[in-house]
Amino acid sequence: MKKQKVFDTMISALRDCFENLPDYRTGVNTLYDVKDAASAAFSVFFTQSPSFLAYQRLMEKNKGKNNISSLLGADKVPSDNQIRNLLDPLSPQVLYGLFPKAIELLKSEGTLEKFRSDEGYILITNDGTQTISSQKISCDECSHRALKNGETQYFHSAILPVIVKSGESRVLPLAPEFITPQDGHKKQDCERVATKRWVEQNADFLQTDCFTMLGDDLYSNQPLCETFLGASLNFILVCKPDSHVELYKTVEFLAGNDLVEEIEKQHWNGRYYEKHLYRFVNKVPLREKDPLIVNWFELIIRRESTGKKEYHNSFVSNLEVNSENVVSLVEDGRTHWKSENETNNTLKNHGYNFEHNFGHGECHLANFLATLNLLAFLLHTLLDLLDEQYQVVRKELVTRTDFFNDIRALLRYMVFDSWDGLMLFMLRALEVPGYG
Ligand SMILES: [Zn+2]
Repeated sequence: MKKQKVFDTMISALRDCFENLPDYRTGVNTLYDVKDAASAAFSVFFTQSPSFLAYQRLMEKNKGKNNISSLLGADKVPSDNQIRNLLDPLSPQVLYGLFPKAIELLKSEGTLEKFRSDEGYILITNDGTQTISSQKISCDECSHRALKNGETQYFHSAILPVIVKSGESRVLPLAPEFITPQDGHKKQDCERVATKRWVEQNADFLQTDCFTMLGDDLYSNQPLCETFLGASLNFILVCKPDSHVELYKTVEFLAGNDLVEEIEKQHWNGRYYEKHLYRFVNKVPLREKDPLIVNWFELIIRRESTGKKEYHNSFVSNLEVNSENVVSLVEDGRTHWKSENETNNTLKNHGYNFEHNFGHGECHLANFLATLNLLAFLLHTLLDLLDEQYQVVRKELVTRTDFFNDIRALLRYMVFDSWDGLMLFMLRALEVPGYG
């Protein structure tokens, strides 16, 4: 497959999925198709433009054609209200199969290898994120919390697993798992229950490579670790002393008997020297009763000149740790929070507002749209990794804000027959050598 065709490949996979969406209407008013409603909603997230649909409807009226039809294959563009009504009954689960398809595509191009850790694993990090909240509107799938002013806040949250690699700013979103009101009230209960469900639902995909799960302290809990192992997943999870008393009692006892190994390395951070102290020991109990036996390691970073502690984090893993691999295992474990910051920052502050102009819905709409939004994020990442023309245009325009401003303006005034046509138009207008 030619690398430029990633847009067409993914859009055709999206369309195939949209064609098979269930239609719950009962005969009347079937002027618009569910698949066109899904394509139209997707186009808003893909172009990161809330007014995109209004412009395309106007274009259809004036020119008899529009970019949602030419680029995304929609037959007709429904109104916002129709989109809401058509998509609200659909469970987001019908979209989940698209995520592994994207990973397969990266694999077939050899690009997934960019995401393989030094130890040979593909790392998946997992975090709970609020996707939408309101004090006025709620639906069947809302969780709620009492606010100090006596009002109730309704919200949706999900775990958003992503493939990450240390030193790689791009992340690959996998199918999300939405937290339901039945999952519990405490954040940690909800995330654990939803993660367990995610592992079960993605069991087939999780067999397709050598995956290692990352997560913060709430994930280094025995039932969850057993769930990971049961699905042939490795894990590297943050493990804090106050939530793992028995484990740290053992580590302390072993350290007192010189059985915890230590390695010290000097590190130049670009401004000053640091001392990196790695400590590790294998086969310690995760908890007091019927414990799972895990391997423990930690990193303490001090400023060499002052001895001041600047970083300290500890992890547990099923992977055996030794002096050869401790540095890369710590690096992998630390990738968790780096990516948490990057993913959440990108999703929340760079155009992927989970709050959108379609509203909340009464049934599944909020979660369905959040999933389309993640798919748009995934397609942008795939283009960035696989589409040479896109890479050149992005490089020329430097910031993502400039890129999306230009895309929005071009698609507002002109109709393009294909993604290739749009990219070529931009390359020529930017006078990039080789595209004249
Ligand atoms: Zn809701």
